Amino acid sequence: MKLKLHWQIVIGMVLGFIFGFLYLKGYDGAPAGWHYSIIASLGTIFIRLLKMVMVPLVFTSIVSGVSGIAESKSLGRLGLKTLAYYLFTSFCAILIGLLLTNIFKPGLNVILNESAGGFETPDLQTTNSIRDILLRLIPDNPFTAAVNGELLGIIFFAIFIGIVIGRLDSRSGETLKTFFDACFSLMMKMTAIIIKFAPLGVLGLITTAVATTGFSLFISIGKYMVTIFFGLSIHLLLILPLIFLFFMRRNAWHHYQAMASAMATAFSTSSSNATLPVTMRCMEENAGISNRISSFVLPLGATLNMDGTALYECAGVIFISQVLGIELTITQQIVVVFTALLASIGAAGIPSAGLVTIFIVTQAVGLTDNTVTLIIGAMLAVDRPLDMFRTVVNITSDSIGTAIIAKSEGETELYNTLQE
Ligand code: ASP
Repeated sequence: MKLKLHWQIVIGMVLGFIFGFLYLKGYDGAPAGWHYSIIASLGTIFIRLLKMVMVPLVFTSIVSGVSGIAESKSLGRLGLKTLAYYLFTSFCAILIGLLLTNIFKPGLNVILNESAGGFETPDLQTTNSIRDILLRLIPDNPFTAAVNGELLGIIFFAIFIGIVIGRLDSRSGETLKTFFDACFSLMMKMTAIIIKFAPLGVLGLITTAVATTGFSLFISIGKYMVTIFFGLSIHLLLILPLIFLFFMRRNAWHHYQAMASAMATAFSTSSSNATLPVTMRCMEENAGISNRISSFVLPLGATLNMDGTALYECAGVIFISQVLGIELTITQQIVVVFTALLASIGAAGIPSAGLVTIFIVTQAVGLTDNTVTLIIGAMLAVDRPLDMFRTVVNITSDSIGTAIIAKSEGETELYNTLQE
């Protein structure tokens, strides 16, 4: 009997934690040994394979999906539903972050010693202003966007192509549609082959994550970490399942079962974008969602809808203000809520992206002190485990939205493969 893929991944994860602890040398002593390099390389190879298919998969998937919808004129309706769901769940997440940081006040009495100051924050200075985020939607050159993996530009270009294919005269339109459908099948097949490698990839990634992160700083800003973990858990295990139950009239457990491989991949890669191939496959193969819906909703979600990141942005900024001893007024807190939403939309689906866009929020409420960078430096040092968890929340929210939208578009044969 062959073990199911998600169980293989769980085994990879558990072994990763064990190996990671064995290799753990504290924050600055990097783990060594040829065996460690081999295990670590498994993770790197897995991420590279996923990234290799990401751009062509997203591109062909959107063109093939949108050209199908564009003919039937349901694109606008689908777009509106997607947007409404994304905004609603992100707001729920932000409110949880706001509430918990105001109740637990994790930033009170935090004294950052020199260990926190020792972390370099060179690449944190690049913020994306709101205007930049909007402009980034339209790529200067679609090939450059593809080369640099700028998903937002690729999505815009692909949606545009898809719409126009739907409007071409029947012969050219059909030829192009058949061509892109075939390319998409090819990319899905390649993805399926790569995903078989996931258990080994996860083993490598978890081992490296555990082995290179020390414990000392975790203790000093432990309360902050616990608050965020708690908030993310409420969103993942209570709010999203309730939303699912309300719209789908079924237990979210079915959905989580279908998504297990994608959630494990998100946890170990900390990247919604890199996980996208797995998310798409889980939704189509396990949940039975059509490509027409998933190819539109999921890539947009992986780039724009980040509930976990939104919660984190809000909670993170309030934490910073508490460490600085600044009471934010109600108006300032409202500004935090709205800019946290924008910052989560602007964050790319890559590791630690949320921490970079947090500057949008800090600047909006005037937290520009040098100490802010210092505090964010300390947050960076403990960011990995938080990032792993918020990425799981991010992709889970995308996938639940996809299922809800699929049902509202009349798809009924969902989750059948799970009931064996
Ligand atoms: N790593 C997250 C993601 O890819 C983004 C973040 O840093 O919050 O979804």
